Amino acid sequence: MKGLIMDYELNVPAILRRAEQLFPRKEIVTRLPDKSFHRYTYEEFAGRAKRLASALRNLGLADGARVATLCWNHYQHLEVYFGVPLSGNVVHTLNLRLHPSDLAYIAKHADDRVLVVDDSLLPLYQAIREHAPFEHVVVIGSAPDGTIPYEELLADGDPGFEPADMDERDAAVMCYTSGTTGQPKGVLYSHRAIALHSLASAQAGTLSISERDVVLPVVPMFHANAWGFPFTCTLVGATQVFPGPQLDPESLLDAFEQERVTITGGVPTIWMGILQLLDKQPDRWDLSAMRGMIVGGSAAPRAMIEGFQRRHGLHVIHAWGMTEMAPLGSVAELVSELEQAPEDEQWAYRAKQGLPAPFVEIRARGDDGLVPWDGATMGELEVRGVWIASRYYEDDSQADRWTEDGWFKTGDIVTIDERGFIEIQDRSKDVIKSGGEWVSSVALENAVMGHPAVAEAAVIAVPDEKWQERPLAVVVLREGETATADELREFIAPQFARWQLPDRFEFVDEIPKTAVGKFRKTALREQFAGETVTAS
Ligand code: AMP
Repeated sequence: MKGLIMDYELNVPAILRRAEQLFPRKEIVTRLPDKSFHRYTYEEFAGRAKRLASALRNLGLADGARVATLCWNHYQHLEVYFGVPLSGNVVHTLNLRLHPSDLAYIAKHADDRVLVVDDSLLPLYQAIREHAPFEHVVVIGSAPDGTIPYEELLADGDPGFEPADMDERDAAVMCYTSGTTGQPKGVLYSHRAIALHSLASAQAGTLSISERDVVLPVVPMFHANAWGFPFTCTLVGATQVFPGPQLDPESLLDAFEQERVTITGGVPTIWMGILQLLDKQPDRWDLSAMRGMIVGGSAAPRAMIEGFQRRHGLHVIHAWGMTEMAPLGSVAELVSELEQAPEDEQWAYRAKQGLPAPFVEIRARGDDGLVPWDGATMGELEVRGVWIASRYYEDDSQADRWTEDGWFKTGDIVTIDERGFIEIQDRSKDVIKSGGEWVSSVALENAVMGHPAVAEAAVIAVPDEKWQERPLAVVVLREGETATADELREFIAPQFARWQLPDRFEFVDEIPKTAVGKFRKTALREQFAGETVTAS
């Protein structure tokens, strides 16, 4: 017997409808490049998103045509996030930190028909235009000849545009993975995935975002939907603050203070910089409104999580996710029984990747099948759920990333403990195998980054005749600090077996980063392990 419940479509128009009806006076704030603030209300935002939707229809775009963006985080980008799906088309966020040849490949592969671009990023567009398929280029800011000024496009649109009640299984958003092997891969999110991801991210126990929050996403809107913040915040009516292009620690801290930000999120490298500045000038900013700083994209070192809390009273929330997962996978908030646990155990738990979000299921597979949830046995994490990709867009070269029974193989090597907390030990390609045993590069990195003189550390495998591979640590020291290899080795020694300790420490000024701010280990392996890089 079937239930007798309405077939209500979970789609992006429904998210916007709610915000417009219930929170019309709430604010969306953008810091402009000259550091002044632009403010308007959800009501104005919704009207402009609808104008954009109708203008795109007038341009002849329908039925899932791709509209690309090359933009920083700002209110116009939010309008495109909503206006494009409202028009029945697919918004495709291009990562402005990628190499132009990768961008051109991605735009062509996705068949992007329109590009919406910030005027400050026009040089990037010029670098790819010859190889890109755009029929129309819409410019936010001052538009050169042959392009459409964004405001003119909107002026032609209808603020009363009524979107069709589209099928929740239709595509709404597209992102390409930054790709460590082969070409970048396209992930195509449905309206349903976006709607359910927003609902689950807003929950207490996950990112816990409500109408009362003031949310500033540091994570770029071109990286995995800015972790869903734009959709989640609009669903719940939270105040949204967009930082614009200035993402240095000082500018961010100024914005947190001025706008009384309660929730923010970004990759660990951003927070490491912020922690260093706060340590230097602990009384400069009033961050008393801040309730949660969400850190993900790479492992958040325990020393950093502890440092924020102990020295500045700031609560770090460690989360794990992937572009293939819209992107939220898990969040490391303490469950009630752990609140009674010894402090050391609590910190250890908060540094794990955490419990899977609702409707994300996990399991891990080793050489001999699924591994037990004992917190010790390592295996590759597999996931399934309502917002997880079922395949890549027009590319089956990695069809083997899905198991026969339909789970997605994440490529992350993890342990899962008896409570269901995931702990990432490595990316499968970064695993170090010494004498047949695995050494976790992530555990070594976190331990080295616990030393007060260390700003950043990345650990890679280098070939070794006797042991096959050995760990090598690449270290950036904090300004004005010193430490020797022996000191660092002795510092972390209590946490590891002797054979797991790095033989070599290399001191560098900077660790190369990927387009989304993660350590670029391929470049380090090329520099220190004689490996040839084959892909980005
Ligand atoms: P991306 O799709 O670019 O966001 O990359 C996803 C990958 O980033 C994951 O498969 C993990 O390897 C890594 N990652 C994301 N969040 C975390 C985290 N909190 N801790 C460790 N690794 C992470």
